[in-house]
Amino acid sequence: MSTTASVETRPEVRQTQCFIGGKWIPAASGKMFPTMHPATEEVVAQVAEGDADDVDLAVEVAREALEHGPWATMDARERGELLFRLADLIEQENDELAALETLDNGKPIRDARTGDIPLVVDCLRYYAGFADKIHGQTIPVRGNYFTYTRREPVGVVGQIIPWNFPALMVAWKWGPALAAGCTVVMKPAEQTPLSCLRMARLAQKAGFPDGVINVVPGYGPTAGAAIVRHPGIDKIAFTGEMSTAQLIMREAATTLKRLTFELGGKSPNVVFADADLEQAAHGAHLGLYFNQGQCCCAGSRLFVQEEVHDELIERLAAMNHTRKVGNPFDIETEQGPQIDQAQMDKILHYIDLGLQEGASCVTGGGRVGEQGYFVEPTLFSGVTDEMTIAKEEIFGPVLSVLKFKDEREIVERANATHFGLAAAVWTRDIGKAHRIAAKVRAGTVWVNCYDIFDAAAPFGGFKMSGMGRELGEAGLQAYTETKTVTVALA
Ligand code: ADP
Repeated sequence: MSTTASVETRPEVRQTQCFIGGKWIPAASGKMFPTMHPATEEVVAQVAEGDADDVDLAVEVAREALEHGPWATMDARERGELLFRLADLIEQENDELAALETLDNGKPIRDARTGDIPLVVDCLRYYAGFADKIHGQTIPVRGNYFTYTRREPVGVVGQIIPWNFPALMVAWKWGPALAAGCTVVMKPAEQTPLSCLRMARLAQKAGFPDGVINVVPGYGPTAGAAIVRHPGIDKIAFTGEMSTAQLIMREAATTLKRLTFELGGKSPNVVFADADLEQAAHGAHLGLYFNQGQCCCAGSRLFVQEEVHDELIERLAAMNHTRKVGNPFDIETEQGPQIDQAQMDKILHYIDLGLQEGASCVTGGGRVGEQGYFVEPTLFSGVTDEMTIAKEEIFGPVLSVLKFKDEREIVERANATHFGLAAAVWTRDIGKAHRIAAKVRAGTVWVNCYDIFDAAAPFGGFKMSGMGRELGEAGLQAYTETKTVTVALA
């Protein structure tokens, strides 16, 4: 682990309370919970631990803002202007917000600074531009009637987000919700509440009316479950684990809430022998190790055609040997710690299972150091479809390489999972690329690239990787209800 002169200074933590109805208030219970820096395991702040009472209050003010506040009658274009202003304020604070993200999540500062926060700004601007372009249709019906549709905000939305891209998940959720005119009760992940709270402060500065955005930090089974249960919430947007989504779906049945889920994956990344191998190796490496492997779309099943298998393994191993793992505040660092002890232990357990089930560990395989939750970039070869590491989501820097012979077998093997979030194919044969793209059951398919995201490009899962889509125009759908109005003309 290296420390050099390029180490950045740490940010100040300024917001730690619940943000409800435009006020910064302690949790009703008075409880606080610690949030820590995963590289050092030190507690960096105590944050208000919201629960059902705080959610009740947040829903009450969000409902009031939706139905009676200035937001209720605000011009759509003005909603867009508020979103643009929020994006500008975030852009001005890019480095500080990035540092807060690194402090709370442990991701390398250079990723947070050049990736996460600029993507936040881009997403908010994309949806700001949509605010005044959400419109219905006029519909020719039989008889002497005039029929048109209105697209109205779905209402008060509960948004529950994970810890892997804390600020970006706020933007993915607030952007479409606010553009559509909804009001929001958000619960950030208990591991990473800080950037969300900072963004709420910036939203307040931007001029969003009180009650439009509310943030209740806290734990899933308490604050999160209270949001899911609350009859005053119309829709839940959730990103996290499949098992949590199953709980939410069961609970939400009582009030028939609208649901969108973005869940996990075991994404196939398929490299054919005719691919540009250097590009493919870099793409496969990025596709798995980026963000410490903590990406729902991680290309964790790397299928390599047998002719180029050994060469690709060599290239990947070489990249792992030189990868800079360490202090995420060092701008040279490429890989920071995992989010917490539980995730690190889970990853190390999967590595053990890989070894026990007969895969060969080419690089890594263990923890780095004894302080902080660092895991070596780990590469397994000789992985087969039945092994646990080829089936279950690891959410860490562990790449499994599987061999394949030809195109006929690969689609079936790629699809042999209950997940369907993303996939990629590397080939110079354009016909083959499109054939695979059409047959693979995944919400996103990358051809000769990986992890290319854009606010305009819909993202979400087939099968058990999710429901509905985020980003793009598709991402607005879940935040509006269509109302049909029919007028007798006679
Ligand atoms: P992860 O493994 O990424 O932490 P989770 O699904 O556990 O995935 O967490 C994602 C988000 O869901 C977090 O904000 C967490 O607090 C919240 N959460 C966890 N359990 C529940 C629950 N029972 N009801 C509502 N939200 C929950």
